[in-house]
Amino acid sequence: MAAAQSDRDPPSALCAEFLNFSAKDTASRWLAAADLQQEVYAHLAVYVPRILCLGPSGSSSSREEQREELACQLLLLAPLEWLLLGEEPATGLALLQEKNQPSPLCGHVFKVGEPTYSCRECAADPTCVLCMQCFLGSVHKEHRYRMTTSGGGGFCDCGDAEAWKKGPYCQKHTPTETRDTEEDPVAQLPPDLVARGYSIFSIILKYAVDMLTWEQDDQLPAGLEPPEKGDTYYCMLFNDEVHTYEQVIYTLQKAVNCSQKEAVSFATTVDRDGRKSVRYGDFQFCEQAKSVIVRNTSRQSKPLRVEVMHSSVVAHQCFALKALSWLGQVIQYSDGLRRILCQVGLQAAAEGENSSLVDQLMLNDSKMWKGARNIYHQLLMNSLLMDLKYKKIFAIQFAKNYRRLQTDFMEDDHERVVSVTSLSVQLFTVPTMARMLMVEENLMKTIIKTFVDHLRHRDLQGRFQFDRYTAQQAFKFGRVQSLIGDLKYVLISRPSEWSDQLRIKFLEGFEAFLELLKCMQGMDPVVRQVGQHIEMEPEWEAAFTLQMKLTHIISMIQEWCSTDERVLIEAYRKCLSALSHCHSSLPDGEQPISLSLAGHCVETFRYQVSQDKVSIHLPVCRLLAGLHVLLSRTEVASRFPEQLPLGELSPPLLIELPLRCLVLCAQVHAGMWRRNGFSLINQIYYYHNVKCRVEMFDKDVIMLQVGASMMDPNHFLMIVLSRFELFHIFSSADCRKRYREANKDVVQQNNTLIEEMLHLIIMVVGERYVSGVGQVEAFDEVRREIVHQLSIRPMAHSELVKALPENGNKETGLERVIDSVASFKKPGVTGRGLYELRPEWNKHFNLYFHHYSRADQSKAEEAQRKLRRQNGEDTALPPPLPPPLCPLFGSLVNLLQCDVLLAVEGAVLQWAVEPSGGGWTESMLQRVLHLVGVALLEEHQQLENSSGDDDVTFNYTAKITRPGEAPSTSGSVLALLESLQNAPHLEVHKDMITWILKMVTNIKTMRERTSSASTVTISQGQGPEETVRDKDKAERKRKAEMARLRREKIMAQMSEMQKHFINENKELFQQSLEELEASTSAAAEHSPLSSEPSCVSQVCVGPRRVGGAERRQLVTCILCQEEQEVRGHGRAMVLAAFVQRSTVLSKNRRRNLPDPEHHDPLFMHPDLSLGIHTASCGHIMHATCWQRYFEAVQLKEQRRQQRLRGHTSYDVENGEFLCPLCECLSNTVIPLLPHTHSPDHSVDHPNLEAWLRTANQQIAVLHFAHRKQSDGVAEGAEPAVPEGFRVDFTPQNPFSSSVSEMITTFSMSTYKVGLKVNPNEQDHRVPVLIWSTCAYTIQSIERLLMDEEKPLFGSLPCRQDDCLSSLTRFSSACWTAAPATTTHTHFIRLLSALVPDSQVENTPCILDIDMFHLLVYTVLSYNSVHSLDQSGRSGVDSAHLHLLHLVTVAHLVQVLLTSTTEEVCMDQDSLATEEEELTCQLYNTLRKHLGSVLPEVTSGWQLFHCVKVGVLPFLRAAALFFHYLNSTAPPADLLVAGPGQWEALCSYLSLPSNLLQLYQSQHTLLEPLIHRWCCHPGVRQTLQGGGVIVRFPRESNRLIELPEDYSVLINQASSFTCPRSGGDKSRAPTLCLVCGSMLCSQSYCCQTEVDGEDVGACTAHTFTCGAGLGLFLRVRESQVLFVAGKTKGCFYPPPYLDDYGETDQGLKRGNPLHLCTERYRKIERLWRQHGIAEVIGHAQEANQTLVAIDWQHL
Ligand SMILES: [Zn+2]
Ligand SMILES: [Zn+2]
Ligand SMILES: [Zn+2]
Ligand SMILES: [Zn+2]
Ligand SMILES: [Zn+2]
Ligand SMILES: [Zn+2]
Ligand SMILES: [Zn+2]
Repeated sequence: MAAAQSDRDPPSALCAEFLNFSAKDTASRWLAAADLQQEVYAHLAVYVPRILCLGPSGSSSSREEQREELACQLLLLAPLEWLLLGEEPATGLALLQEKNQPSPLCGHVFKVGEPTYSCRECAADPTCVLCMQCFLGSVHKEHRYRMTTSGGGGFCDCGDAEAWKKGPYCQKHTPTETRDTEEDPVAQLPPDLVARGYSIFSIILKYAVDMLTWEQDDQLPAGLEPPEKGDTYYCMLFNDEVHTYEQVIYTLQKAVNCSQKEAVSFATTVDRDGRKSVRYGDFQFCEQAKSVIVRNTSRQSKPLRVEVMHSSVVAHQCFALKALSWLGQVIQYSDGLRRILCQVGLQAAAEGENSSLVDQLMLNDSKMWKGARNIYHQLLMNSLLMDLKYKKIFAIQFAKNYRRLQTDFMEDDHERVVSVTSLSVQLFTVPTMARMLMVEENLMKTIIKTFVDHLRHRDLQGRFQFDRYTAQQAFKFGRVQSLIGDLKYVLISRPSEWSDQLRIKFLEGFEAFLELLKCMQGMDPVVRQVGQHIEMEPEWEAAFTLQMKLTHIISMIQEWCSTDERVLIEAYRKCLSALSHCHSSLPDGEQPISLSLAGHCVETFRYQVSQDKVSIHLPVCRLLAGLHVLLSRTEVASRFPEQLPLGELSPPLLIELPLRCLVLCAQVHAGMWRRNGFSLINQIYYYHNVKCRVEMFDKDVIMLQVGASMMDPNHFLMIVLSRFELFHIFSSADCRKRYREANKDVVQQNNTLIEEMLHLIIMVVGERYVSGVGQVEAFDEVRREIVHQLSIRPMAHSELVKALPENGNKETGLERVIDSVASFKKPGVTGRGLYELRPEWNKHFNLYFHHYSRADQSKAEEAQRKLRRQNGEDTALPPPLPPPLCPLFGSLVNLLQCDVLLAVEGAVLQWAVEPSGGGWTESMLQRVLHLVGVALLEEHQQLENSSGDDDVTFNYTAKITRPGEAPSTSGSVLALLESLQNAPHLEVHKDMITWILKMVTNIKTMRERTSSASTVTISQGQGPEETVRDKDKAERKRKAEMARLRREKIMAQMSEMQKHFINENKELFQQSLEELEASTSAAAEHSPLSSEPSCVSQVCVGPRRVGGAERRQLVTCILCQEEQEVRGHGRAMVLAAFVQRSTVLSKNRRRNLPDPEHHDPLFMHPDLSLGIHTASCGHIMHATCWQRYFEAVQLKEQRRQQRLRGHTSYDVENGEFLCPLCECLSNTVIPLLPHTHSPDHSVDHPNLEAWLRTANQQIAVLHFAHRKQSDGVAEGAEPAVPEGFRVDFTPQNPFSSSVSEMITTFSMSTYKVGLKVNPNEQDHRVPVLIWSTCAYTIQSIERLLMDEEKPLFGSLPCRQDDCLSSLTRFSSACWTAAPATTTHTHFIRLLSALVPDSQVENTPCILDIDMFHLLVYTVLSYNSVHSLDQSGRSGVDSAHLHLLHLVTVAHLVQVLLTSTTEEVCMDQDSLATEEEELTCQLYNTLRKHLGSVLPEVTSGWQLFHCVKVGVLPFLRAAALFFHYLNSTAPPADLLVAGPGQWEALCSYLSLPSNLLQLYQSQHTLLEPLIHRWCCHPGVRQTLQGGGVIVRFPRESNRLIELPEDYSVLINQASSFTCPRSGGDKSRAPTLCLVCGSMLCSQSYCCQTEVDGEDVGACTAHTFTCGAGLGLFLRVRESQVLFVAGKTKGCFYPPPYLDDYGETDQGLKRGNPLHLCTERYRKIERLWRQHGIAEVIGHAQEANQTLVAIDWQHL
């Protein structure tokens, strides 16, 4: 309406002014004016409200927009441009650009979804990205890069030297001449231009800022008030994050009376732009809408924001945005103008600080609507951020305002991407800028302080307290986390040089950070719950979120400290004093307790983890541990340790809190904290998890190492024992007794605690792979992690990445190491590439690797033992050789030989003498043996390294030889070990004990030969008898193991057979649908293929055909296991089947789906645009058994629906069920029918002419009879009735009622699915649809065999073979269920296409008929006509053969008519063959009939070639058809692929191998037919371009070509806009793999109504493109989507892999992705085999969450 109106009624006043207005004159008038601003404002005041916002904007047409745009340009912007340039703007700007020396920055601003690239080798940090253009022209495309999709905002860093360690410029942005970056670009401009620039930019920028920050609805700033002010208002709706789309749409429909569609459009715009006027009119009118909206949305939450604004205010705001965009454009032409704008923007106004225009914008950011923010942010990026000088000044302003901006952001309910605070990434990640801001604006401290101040929930001790915090607080907590991101940017690159200023400011920041950590130290304390379970799970996630977010910051701060010794020592001091502050709360006033064991004494706190408060959060301790390790790496530590502030430490105090935390974990593990619920379990989980462990668990272990290295080892261990609450067990002589008497739970608990404690000691003394603790590099640390991951099993790249901690740059260091320890195995068509540990690294395996979970540990142990057995080695898993310790930690080794540990070891070994009755565990023993092993390795190592003269102080062997001093032990540790060696109950540990004893012997030998530097290796010195005995035993063990494995495998196989064999073989199943051989399929049926050697002259059609043999078919019902013979009169047997519509063969996807009620399917068009496909899993049941089964399924479904709503993976109401054996999706059953009889050789075989004559007579009789039936009387003479032909004859039904019933069942399913109608047995189309699915299925299988170059016969899997055979035989019998006249009429109509019949109307021309379908239909429908012939003189077989001949000739003609033989000059030397001559003859006959419509072709060779190739698929399909119809064995030549097919095929079909003879031999008979075919008006019309010409052979359909590089697709998708909402970016661009259309999926804008229901773009598309079935690629997600109908779908792995052979669904990892052709072909094959629906079914069965997805909205 609106558009039409504005057409008729243009704003004529304006129109006149348009013509008279001169921008040039206006500009010169302004130039002359005294007060330029006043003049410009006056102009704007007049024109802006007259150009913009003149009516309801919801309905404004694009024409209207164009008019506005034009008027703005001509009347408002052009004068400004004239004024600025002083000449014709186009010329002026071109000149400016020409003279400009552009900065090398690319600065391309990213759109949502656009691909961005970062180089993992050269980028300064992961925020440095390139746009696609720059990336392709850069050196980084050869490097290891990462690809992501942009979330919008941010720009390309190409040209920023600081962002890249190497290659900062792409080819395009490489600076041509060395340019002085300090040079002022303004100096390049003419001075008068500069002056005008300043004044215009100031006026316009000020105008825009004033308007955007304007808060009055009815007034305008001074000078802008319109000359006349009408009563025209807008009702403006603003965006918020509280109300949902649905709420807004619903409210709008009510409030402004708009349609659903308009409401959706309003809501979409509000969401995108932040505001939208929803009504235009007088004040009252708008006010009314406002109150309805407010009333309707205020119930549950705060109401939607709505304002009624005067149209002139809205108009000026609109123009302000346009003006800002204009500024952005103008400065693109000249760096000088850009700098002028920067200056104008940042110039402080008279009001003083923070008063520049840019400041005003920033400070009002949270008040502006989204659209305004986006435009001014964009301008900031184009101006300030592109000018290096002003970027700095801006950064300072930004830092100065930081606190306030963040505070505003906390209150703002918009996402961060539209907040000005998100610009921090552009400023803080530039290292020099970050440093400058830190020094000048104390940025680090500011950020941390702001952060701490915003987290206000504290407990009495000032610690954070997150429990009981509200949703509002949670929201704020989410917001405040972005500050951590800013801090990360600031710290992301370490300084290479330190100034004193930087040191001071960093340490100030560090102190602020310590304050933050102090608030976290001890938060969320827990107390063990005894007796009762806790009532409510305490909140724990917030604290861990904080910890997780800070993890990288903590690591980065340590990295900063590590680069400067002075800073490090000072930071260490500060941290230490912070820790003492935290410790002040420890109960030191209490009486200490005194412990004594093994002759040593120590005093400690009275504290028990199991009774007192304990917290997992100890960031201050852990930071100190981290700094301590750094100190250990410095030179000071090795040379002047006295200079370190170590003296201030009390080691027992240092270890106290971390030890408590580790004991807590042990106790949780021992089950002592069960009543504390899941929150504690979760906390413990995260404590060890890769995301947190670096700054939690790892540091606690280090802190214990720090403490232990500074304490008497005996004291350390006694405190550990005491904290584990195990001291009493080892301290007294009768401990064993007490221990035994205790109750069983306690014994078990203590056993676990002892295991955990021993493990802790192993870690404290053995974990040395941290640079600073041991003498290793970061490289070694990563490598060790990988070795241990791969010791569990081979892993994919992404699994390894997940198992390793990432640093702040999202790097794990994996790539540098992986190839040195592992070999890569490429993936197949499924699965992913795997890394396998190289064998030489097995010896580095440590069973007690500290990052193993218990499950990992046992898996790794099993894998390693298995490996060793396979290699014929003993199964001992001794500790690997540890790296040497750093000096500061050197004394740790003394733990191994201290008296307390020896006492503990002795005690455990002593217990182990007796078989365990619960008093000890094997794990305990195993750990002790490990510790003994570590000690021996240490001693061995020290001996080897000693030069001989200095005595090795570490003497473990001596100590374990001495009898035990501890009260409980009787013998020495060594003696105990020797006695345990052959203990029968310790068989498993025998190898390890043997290894230990050998080590002891070795070391003794070494000690004896102290002077000679002997190196005795460990592996030697085994007695020969011992080896033999061991080998024997190993062999026996191996055999037993093998037998066990075999048994297990058989058991597993059996259980698979019984249940869910698909589920468990999913992988296998998906590999190839066709490989699945149905084991119980009709075994006797396919014997002709294999067992019967086929004779040479096998014929499948016509009187000479070889009969289907009177073989009995015996089949077994899968449900009752009974055997049954297939007989027409017997119990019906059925085959589970799935019928679906298909467009797989379609050559015309534009054809509309047929109207179900009026569609006449009798003639299939050769474009095959819609077919019906039938498939089967090949499983056979009794009809009755199946019916019972299906009823049970229905009943179950009813019950399920009563209980809960939702879908199952199959649609029971539409007859779907899963095959009871293989769970294959099915929706009907095909009845099995017996073989057809062998031909009757006693009857005549009329020639074609005679047969045609008879047929014509029969038809004439039928015509007459039909007429008589319908009109009551028949006119004309009764035609002559052929002998024995009885029209009223009703043939006896050859089938039992149960078989007939199943015939109807399958007929109805096909009818229902094929036409999408309700079942109707009386519909005359029923038999046609059955013939159709028979023909279509055969055709599609023929195509598959052809394309896969498989032989026509013998290569089909049983299930397809069974399916085709049943389907074909069924089709030939289905007429028995239909009324006789129906099939007769069909036959008459079908035949009239070949033999034109004047009594039949509307026969299509031969170019519009698929000949194979015609063949199948005529053959199958003739059966019913033939049944009337009671003469017994003619066989049905000769009729079949004649029909085949006729159709073949018609097809020849069809092929010739559509052949486009471009005349190519061929050698005409060789004599034309007979075939070629005949082809030419036929072609010329056709030309005689059609004339110039057909081109002249002289090359017979070419024509014949065309014919042969074109007709082949038809012949192959026909061979399949008659093979299955008549059960004739195929000739040997067709059982193999390759040459010789043609002759074999022709002879099998009883055709001359020179097909043209068909025509030649019946020349006189066929000539008139051909003439009449050609004269059908449709032929001429089609050939002249009036219809779809299908050429033969029809090319097979393939899925679309995909690019090799995935980023090409991403780029394509990022420039794709939603087709419905005018140029908007689509959120989920999705590519149809069938036709290549890009769709706007999963979005309101592109929903379409299909059958009365709104569906998403993908679902809607499937109905036009795939008859309800679709294959898509979701580009943003890198995910394939299968959709079937409205309710079913699943995701499928995409055919794109990274270099590690893995897909990246969701594009999370960002490795470059490349097309894997094999996988794509696999998807294609799935589609062409019609297997998609089944894949969806299986996916949904396996994963119930898929069922709940609303697929129709995608
Ligand atoms: Zn770029
Ligand atoms: Zn570039
Ligand atoms: Zn690079
Ligand atoms: Zn049965
Ligand atoms: Zn099955
Ligand atoms: Zn859309
Ligand atoms: Zn499509």
